[in-house]
Amino acid sequence: MNLLKKLLILSFLLTFAFPYQAFAYKVVLDAGHGGSDPGAIGINGLNEKDVNLDITQKLRDELARRGYDVVMTRTDDRYWSLAQRVEFTNSLKADLFVSVHANSHTSSKTNGSMVLYYDDAYPQEDYPASDTMKLMTPYSKDLAQHVLNSLLAASGTVNLGLVPSAVYVARMGTIPSILVETAFLSNTGDAALLADDTARTRMAIGIERGIEAYAPPVFTDTIGHWAREAILRMKNKNLIEGIGNRYEPERALTRAEFLTLMDRLFTFSKLKDPCSSSNSSTVSAAVYGCSFNNSSSATFTSNKQYKDLPATHWASPIFAKAKDLNLLQGYEDGTIRPDQSITRGEVSVLFDRLLQMAQSAAKQRPKALYPSFDDVPATLWSANAIYTLKHLGIINGTSENTFKPERTITRAEIAAMMDRYDSK
Ligand SMILES: [Zn+2]
Repeated sequence: MNLLKKLLILSFLLTFAFPYQAFAYKVVLDAGHGGSDPGAIGINGLNEKDVNLDITQKLRDELARRGYDVVMTRTDDRYWSLAQRVEFTNSLKADLFVSVHANSHTSSKTNGSMVLYYDDAYPQEDYPASDTMKLMTPYSKDLAQHVLNSLLAASGTVNLGLVPSAVYVARMGTIPSILVETAFLSNTGDAALLADDTARTRMAIGIERGIEAYAPPVFTDTIGHWAREAILRMKNKNLIEGIGNRYEPERALTRAEFLTLMDRLFTFSKLKDPCSSSNSSTVSAAVYGCSFNNSSSATFTSNKQYKDLPATHWASPIFAKAKDLNLLQGYEDGTIRPDQSITRGEVSVLFDRLLQMAQSAAKQRPKALYPSFDDVPATLWSANAIYTLKHLGIINGTSENTFKPERTITRAEIAAMMDRYDSK
C-alpha cells in the first residue's frame, strides 16, 4: 500500500473515531528553564532555555492552527519556579501538559530523544507524586508514547524511549503530563539539530502530531472519583454533559441543570400532572399526594413571568415545561432562581414525583420504610420520597445513618441516581 492510501485510510479512521466535538482540548505548554536559569549549555554554546522557548512557540503555533486551546507558562526569557509552573497549570483546568527541554550528558557520545512521565509503578519515596498524578499514570504514559513516536519520525533522532521519572512538573499536577527531552546539547550532531531552525520546526511538528494522535480521557476531573463509572455511562447515553471536557462532579447542581437532566431521563412532554384540575387522568390525584410542596413556602402562580428568568435564558424552555407539570414553584418575590442549588431532600421529592408520573398507576409502589436515617424523621416533608427512593435502590445516604436532606446535591450524586434508575 502506498503512503497516500495509508494516510487516506488513517484520516478516515480518525474522523470516524473522533467525531466532531463541540469543545477544544486545552493544552499547557511549558518551555523549560528561563531567565537566570539557562538550563544546559550546548557544546556549540546554545542555551537550553532559548532552544526550549523557540520549539515551544513553534509547537504552540502548530497546535493553535489545529484548533487547540493553548496556554504557555513562560512566553519570554523569564525565570519561573517549578512550583509556579505547576500551580499555574493546575489553575487552568486543562487537558494535558507538555514541558519541552533539551538534554545534556557527561558523555558527548550520548544522543537521542526521550519522553519523561510519572509512573506509579516506579514510585520514588523521596519524591512523592500528587494523588491525582498517581491516577494519571496510564494517560501520561499513553501521551508520552504518542509524542515520542511522532517526534522520532519527524526529527530522525535516536530513540531513547520512555522514562518513568519523578521530575517535579511531571509528578505534581492533576492532568496527564510529560516532559520531552528533544535531543542532547552535549552531543555534536544533536546540538547542530537544535541550532537549526528547520530541525526545530520538525521537532515541534513531531510533538504536535503526537498530541493530536492522543485522545485525552473523558472528563479528566472524574478520574478516581467514586461516581466516574456512572457518570461515563450517563454521558454515553447522552443524558449528561460536561463543561468542555470536565464534569465538575463535586459542584452543586443548580435547579436549571436538575430540570434539564430530569427532562432527558423522564421526557416531560410524555408526562401529565395528575394534580392539575384540567387533567382528566384516570388515576386519582390522591395517589400522587397532590398536597406536594417544596421546602419553600412560595406559592405557585401558573401564568406569572418570573423576573429572573427572561425568555432569552437558556433554561427558560425547560422551566416552562416544568411549570406544566407543576414541578418547581416560584418564590414569593416573583423569582424562580434557576441558578440556585437544589438540596438532596428537594431532589428526592421531585424525582419521586416524576417516577410516579412515569410509572403506570397499576404498578405497586414500595412501602417506604421509616426511619433508618437519623436526620430524616418520618415527620420530615421529604421523608416519604427519600425512603421510597432508598427502598428502590435509587438513592443512598451519605453514610449508613445519615442522609443530609438539607445539603445541596452534587453533580456526581445526581449522575449516580440517574444511573441507578436507568439500570433498573
Ligand atoms: Zn532542561
